[in-house]
Amino acid sequence: MKLTVIGCAGSFPGPDSPASSYLVEAPFEGRTYRLVIDLGSGALGNLQRECDLRDIDAIALSHLHADHCFDLSGFYVVSKYHPDGALDRIPVLAPAGTGDHLASAYGIDEPVGMTEQFDFRDWQDGGTVQLGPFTVTSVLVDHPIPAYAIRVATEDHSLVYSGDTGPTEALVDLAGGADLFLCEASFVESGDNPPNLHLTGAEAGAYATRAGVGRLLVTHIPAWTDRAEVESDVKTTWDGPYELVTAGSTCQLP
Ligand SMILES: [Zn+2]
Ligand SMILES: [Zn+2]
Repeated sequence: MKLTVIGCAGSFPGPDSPASSYLVEAPFEGRTYRLVIDLGSGALGNLQRECDLRDIDAIALSHLHADHCFDLSGFYVVSKYHPDGALDRIPVLAPAGTGDHLASAYGIDEPVGMTEQFDFRDWQDGGTVQLGPFTVTSVLVDHPIPAYAIRVATEDHSLVYSGDTGPTEALVDLAGGADLFLCEASFVESGDNPPNLHLTGAEAGAYATRAGVGRLLVTHIPAWTDRAEVESDVKTTWDGPYELVTAGSTCQLP
């Protein structure tokens, strides 16, 4: 399994990174299967540095905030109007109502919306679906709109992505024993942080410790936040391997 960070800027694109998007690849039936998790503002551009968009097999959207889903509009254009012909219709795992939401945001009047390009499938809390080599499990987390954390597992490896969430025990359960824990840390401990919205680095580190993960990948740090402060927060609760990811970071599991 290989993870490539396409974008990791929290809440809006920053000068050095698009908003949230991650490419997860694994061998499948003699080729490479490609799952894109989140497609936030600006991500579609950087994604094309990593692969041909025609080679994306599936998309998973954690929730419907713009910094996690709005570049599906650009992908719709590529899929529908590609000069070599329309792309294959691919699954989009997402919260209920995503098809209507994004068709409205794009300005599509026809009732068909984006459904000729994308096979929208609703997340279920605690549900599991199979996508190529990946067993994908989703659980509801704590955010102002329905938002899911996602576990992606092959026979050999596992990656858990927090999406956006405030503190929640659901994340500890989902992340148990994961090789990679890609966890948001939007807030700093010194801040006056609103509840039910985001985590601090210390909270991400504490969850990593309790879940016994192999490696903590800290993400979703907004451009206006001091990364060094996030890192020092992480180190108060986590003493294993970690990284504050950047756009283009990769992590290959053997
Ligand atoms: Zn976000
Ligand atoms: Zn959000």
